[in-house]
Amino acid sequence: MVELCSLFSGSSGNASFVKAGNTNILVDCGESGAHMEEALKKIGVAPDALDCIFITHEHTDHIKGAGILSRRYNLPIYATVGTWQSMISKIGKVASDNIRYIKGGVPFGAFDAIVTPFETPHDSCESVGFTIEHNGRKASVATDIGVMNKTVYENIKHSDIVLLESNHDVDMLLKGPYSPELKRRVRSSLGHLSNDDCALTCAHLLEQGVKHILLGHLSLDNNTPSVAYNATEEALVMKGARIGHDITLEVASRYTPSAKYTVR
Ligand SMILES: [Zn+2]
Ligand SMILES: [Zn+2]
Repeated sequence: MVELCSLFSGSSGNASFVKAGNTNILVDCGESGAHMEEALKKIGVAPDALDCIFITHEHTDHIKGAGILSRRYNLPIYATVGTWQSMISKIGKVASDNIRYIKGGVPFGAFDAIVTPFETPHDSCESVGFTIEHNGRKASVATDIGVMNKTVYENIKHSDIVLLESNHDVDMLLKGPYSPELKRRVRSSLGHLSNDDCALTCAHLLEQGVKHILLGHLSLDNNTPSVAYNATEEALVMKGARIGHDITLEVASRYTPSAKYTVR
């Protein structure tokens, strides 16, 4: 059984709760400790029931509360060597037992979960996304990806539940307030995934049997929840999907938890 619920999603902070069997996991921990605890309580998870934290990369919107929760609840943090090197000075002291190293493309076991971190194209040190499996069910988190490449797609394609980045509408970005340099960064192959690229990917995931799609990491300036939703909805409907019957689609909110998706 796997379960996924987005707690926060966007450039202000990212965190998802994933349950695999009896294992309670946070993927990213990008809000303050107090906000993380509040969000977990909202979805009925006691913070001291958490088992571990996985970190995708060192950007502040993914790590802000990681050290705090690790110290408060004695939680191991799993991240790549590159992520640890660039994050360690920002999250405060972590007990040496709780420093766990992982590597893109190398699966590992965490309690009940079988986890595969996969490399993501992003302007950070050694970023990864995660697939988390239990008993043949699979949930994936893939945000902060400049392009949908083969590595990311091959890893997430047989998921039951996917949280996928739908960062920006290209027109809104081009006409929006960002500097030319920042526009180039967001659009680059090491930046963030556009609504169109996300929609195209979701159409392929539909054919692979995905049941629940959450769109996440929306830009505040270059996207809106309805623009993001409509882009992917259109791509799914074009493939003949009935939203809410064949597949569910939700935009993960910046500040409040999403629905909890469970596949047994
Ligand atoms: Zn981010
Ligand atoms: Zn990032």
